[in-house]
Amino acid sequence: MPIQTVNPYNNSIIKTFDEITDADLEIKIATAHKTYQSWKNTDVKQRAKLLAKVAAIMRKKKRELAELITLEMGKLIAQSESEIDMCASVYDYYAKNGEEFLKDKPIETTGGKAFIRYSPTGIILAVEPWNYPFNQVARLTAPNIVAGNVVLLKHASNVPQCAQMIQSIFEEAGAEEGVFTNVYLSGSRVSRLAEDSRITGMSLTGSEAAGSSLAEAAGKNLKKSVLELGGSDAFIVLEDADIDLAVEKAVLGRFGNMGQACTSAKRIIVLEAVANEFLEKFKAQITGLEVGDPMNPETKIGPMVSETALKTLEKQVNATVKEGAKVMLGGKRIDREGAFFEFTILTDIKPGMTAYGEELFGPVASFYSVTDENAAIALANDTSFGLGGAVFSKNTNRAVNVANQMDTGMVFINESVASRPDLPFGGTKRSGYGRELSALGIEEFVNKKLIRIADII
Ligand code: NAP
Repeated sequence: MPIQTVNPYNNSIIKTFDEITDADLEIKIATAHKTYQSWKNTDVKQRAKLLAKVAAIMRKKKRELAELITLEMGKLIAQSESEIDMCASVYDYYAKNGEEFLKDKPIETTGGKAFIRYSPTGIILAVEPWNYPFNQVARLTAPNIVAGNVVLLKHASNVPQCAQMIQSIFEEAGAEEGVFTNVYLSGSRVSRLAEDSRITGMSLTGSEAAGSSLAEAAGKNLKKSVLELGGSDAFIVLEDADIDLAVEKAVLGRFGNMGQACTSAKRIIVLEAVANEFLEKFKAQITGLEVGDPMNPETKIGPMVSETALKTLEKQVNATVKEGAKVMLGGKRIDREGAFFEFTILTDIKPGMTAYGEELFGPVASFYSVTDENAAIALANDTSFGLGGAVFSKNTNRAVNVANQMDTGMVFINESVASRPDLPFGGTKRSGYGRELSALGIEEFVNKKLIRIADII
């Protein structure tokens, strides 16, 4: 995959970048390693200050950064601006709470004292996806930098300008060279980095294939890894739900970011007593929307990230229809220049069909009507993924009981799954392991060192 900015609005190639040579990569890693030797001993307050500055610069440059996101991956401009707000709030969150999270944790013991000290470990490699090009990087970078690690970024090949912009912001905030380093590197060269002892942790957000390749290399080299992979989240609507609220959140949850979020509400599962009402209202909300330039604030349907992504989705939809599912709305690419796909609703999907088992990474809602709560839970769990899920009901105890039976890393009640700095984010099953954000996110790549002091009298 060339390292290249291609505008998905019209598929024009904007700029191409050279991949880093092995010799230059060695220089970058050596610099990061050297910087780490002093960075790990800096006061946590100094590290927090750097993050706060990064957040402030991002807020000041919000429009410029948002335009870069929209140019490189086609996100609607208002959603790009929201991403920058969210990203700044992640840096601020760890600037504010990092010191507290990293405090020694006393352990109750006998015959002496003991505590856990959080020590940094080295260079953390961040392999990140294009779908939230600033925020995904922040989720790994902010906790690690405040913890005293340094970060080497290998971003998705289609967002090179966003990647370099993040490094420039760190430089502008006063970061020493090597604290945050962007490298232009193809995915196929990532595994080799696991052999480098200066790199002490590896994190990847992306597909199962990429995740398993990184984890295999990390495992072979006995290196800690964190994987945030795909999902096929269930969005369950019980018959006692506020239907208008559920519809509003399902539209946002499924079609935000043109359906290209790991936690999109990919499978909408509604109890049959309210299924028709839900479906009619849901369809009405996504019919007749303005298609066009994602830079135009009036646009509601922008492009997907790329021609390749669109073709993959188109193939999955066509296969599912051939297998017997029905298209209630949309179902095909939009006849215009650029990577545009109609907002789509698929119904009558059965086990064994393509859309039943695979993640649909685009604006396609798979709709299921089920007889009761148990059937909804069984369907929700009948997937290899286990990232997030949502439950809608006015009866909170009932919703929590449903949430308790869902095999996922996260369940949101009466809202669609969202990422917030103060809430842990991550999955189970084939959606990966480990957590980002919150107090848990800072624990992944630090050495939780036990210090024991014996009573000597
Ligand atoms: P992808 O192809 O796996 O790309 C993600 C990153 O991995 C990119 O930087 C990519 O680099 C790199 N990569 C690709 N092959 C690799 C390999 N063999 N070894 C190491 N790195 C490799 O993912 P995608 O298809 O673009 O992104 C969508 C997927 O990510 C979906 O499944 C989505 O659900 C998931 N996702 C998960 C989360 C989460 O938090 N759980 C968040 C966002 C997205 P190149 O671009 O150079 O190939």
